[in-house]
Amino acid sequence: MIDFTLSEEHGLLERSVREWAAREVAPYIRENDRRHHFDRERILGGMAKLGLLGISIPQEYGGAGMDYICLGLASEELEYVDTSLRVIMSVHAGLSCLTLLAWGTEDQKRRYLVPQAQGTKIAGYGLTEPSAGSDARAIQSTAIKKGDRYVLAGEKSWISLADVADNFLVIAWTDLEKKKQRDPSGLTAFIVERTFKGFSSGPMKEKWGILAGNTGFFKMDDVEVPAENVIGRPGEGFKIAMFALDQGRYTVAAGATGLIRACRDASVAYALDRKTFGVEIGQHQLVKEMIAQMESDYQAARLLWLRSGWMKNAGQRNTRETGLAKWFATVASERAAGDAVQIHGANGYSDEYPVGRFFRNCKGAVIYEGTREIHKVMQADYLLGYRADRPTRCELPAYGAEVKS
Ligand SMILES: Cc1cc2nc3c(=O)[nH]c(=O)nc-3n(C[C@H](O)[C@H](O)[C@H](O)COP(=O)(O)OP(=O)(O)OC[C@H]3O[C@@H](n4cnc5c(N)ncnc54)[C@H](O)[C@@H]3O)c2cc1C
Repeated sequence: MIDFTLSEEHGLLERSVREWAAREVAPYIRENDRRHHFDRERILGGMAKLGLLGISIPQEYGGAGMDYICLGLASEELEYVDTSLRVIMSVHAGLSCLTLLAWGTEDQKRRYLVPQAQGTKIAGYGLTEPSAGSDARAIQSTAIKKGDRYVLAGEKSWISLADVADNFLVIAWTDLEKKKQRDPSGLTAFIVERTFKGFSSGPMKEKWGILAGNTGFFKMDDVEVPAENVIGRPGEGFKIAMFALDQGRYTVAAGATGLIRACRDASVAYALDRKTFGVEIGQHQLVKEMIAQMESDYQAARLLWLRSGWMKNAGQRNTRETGLAKWFATVASERAAGDAVQIHGANGYSDEYPVGRFFRNCKGAVIYEGTREIHKVMQADYLLGYRADRPTRCELPAYGAEVKS
């Protein structure tokens, strides 16, 4: 039987994240956004206390042991206040923690996953490079084996939490012949710690959105990484990178859904307050149309990410459904943010109201974790039979299932 009700645990989690973000983050976010300031202690400290940094990681690995729907609910509530908060869920809780849970060895889980889930260490994800985003096989970073270590060289750009995270899931070529042929079975995934010699990072200085968040680059100047830090097997890096995106995209979908709701709520409040031609602007049909579109986008986006979360809970492969949820929600959030600014008129064109920030923030998610165009092509390819998901060696454990090492 289909059941659309959330459990008591879901409701409790949703309320506690909502209340924390409204109380501890919302009053300061405009100023942090203006100052391009990542409020590390307030945000990461608060999220760790709430258990959000290890939300869907089993308790035996230091997490809160909640289901994947809770991860989505938290992402939605966080992005309702500001995208920078949800980005932390995407890269730390989604791309890194869940990948370690599925692909990490027991030793890697103890060394990295446990402190990450407890929130004492923060993790990022390094795939993109200056010359390679959508075309991941065009990355140039290399990892050459020397004895029991790999020597990593290269640069990653547009990396969320580049100046904040303690370690990164890094994809690099271990087979240079396959690099020449663009054969992805020559790529390998590693955990690289910030403290390793030869690692350096810096911010993307000209970024114009998600300004209360941290986005930057890191360089690996012959960084020696122990072989124990290879995630999965050598040659599985591409599959692991894509697996990680299934988890990150889920949080992006749920987060963009929260952004649509934020635009809707701000627009409704403004439309009831602002008057033109003797009536509040909510009385004008063209304004109603924009608000109604936000509601249909919100409800549809929410159902799509909930379906992905349900599939994750059940242990079902959800690459296709998660991609659709991410694509739909992010494009709809761009529409909602544009219309929210429109409804606010000139006031929307100022940082006095939050909708201008929503407008700047929404665009990032239409670009990262698969651009709008890449997702469009993927969905068409599934339908045309050009693309099918093959089983991977490691899968995300179903909610409550025993975790294999
Ligand atoms: C705020 C922010 C945070 C980010 N955080 C991270 C992070 O933590 N880790 C990380 O690894 N990366 C991160 N990224 C990078 C992001 O994943 C890439 O920007 C994204 O994959 C797109 O790559 P690109 O920018 O190189 O664009 P390109 O791939 O160069 O694309 C340029 C344009 O061409 C289009 N295009 C490209 N190929 C095709 C095609 N085959 N068919 C149709 N159209 C196509 C694209 O859709 C786009 O419109 C972040 C980006 C941003 C903006």
